[in-house]
Amino acid sequence: EGRWFAVRVAPMGTNGLVLVLAEDLTELRRVEAIRRDFVANVSHELKTPVGALSLLAETIEDASDDPEAVRRFAKRMQHESVRLTNVVQDLITLSRLQGGEPVAEPKVVSLDDVVHEAVDRCRLKAEPKDITLAIGGREGLNVHGDEELLITAVRNFIDNAVAYSPEHTRVVVCTRLADERHAEISVTDQGIGIPEADLQRIFERFYRVDPARSRQTGGTGLGLAIVKHAATRHRGEVNVWSKEGSGSTFTIRLPLLTTSATAKEIPEPAT
Ligand code: ADP
Repeated sequence: EGRWFAVRVAPMGTNGLVLVLAEDLTELRRVEAIRRDFVANVSHELKTPVGALSLLAETIEDASDDPEAVRRFAKRMQHESVRLTNVVQDLITLSRLQGGEPVAEPKVVSLDDVVHEAVDRCRLKAEPKDITLAIGGREGLNVHGDEELLITAVRNFIDNAVAYSPEHTRVVVCTRLADERHAEISVTDQGIGIPEADLQRIFERFYRVDPARSRQTGGTGLGLAIVKHAATRHRGEVNVWSKEGSGSTFTIRLPLLTTSATAKEIPEPAT
């Protein structure tokens, strides 16, 4: 690897002395390399479905006298369009999050609402695989922030849990008090799990344990990067525990605003 420096030499007057300025460019080069990788990845993720779509369109034209083939190709075109839409939608979400603007008008958000809404939106994906989505844990925990963003985060966890689990399994979404000041939402599955060597990297943009499998299930490779940014936005953090072949637990921990129990203890102001 090594470090990179830009060196500038300037003479100081006529006495033969020179001023040497060395600027460390290592970090700059690293950031530049990450940006280049990202652009290459985005181009690839967009090019693949677009390429497939144009090929399918050509094929459909040739097969116009075979209604069964037309139907089959149309179905695949739908699949590629969904994938394209997912990538674009995730890129928009991620770029908003990376823009660093503060959470739009932070509000009191009930984690019960977040969990129920996220689970409801995932049911359609869980049903065909007969995966049960269960909700448990402590009710009445509130945080301060962006409700839609938190729903997206929990939804990405659940979508993954469903995508990387076999049929007839359970996904449990749980809220709890992590400590006095933090609430936590966890999503536990009985899925394929994640090899230890990959655990460090799965929250990176476009990092996938098995790229073919991720694409096949409509994954964009951006879901967990979005969750991580959403957590950071809320001054929270993400974590993962996993065992290959038996399942994973993903958590998002957030600064606690109130629990309904403490809210009730606040006396009514005297009138
Ligand atoms: P993707 O769209 O590929 O699912 P994510 O950023 O959501 O992208 O996840 C990154 C990778 O982490 C996935 O490709 C997959 O390999 C792994 N992963 C995420 N969640 C799970 C899970 N619940 N079980 C097993 N592997 C998972």
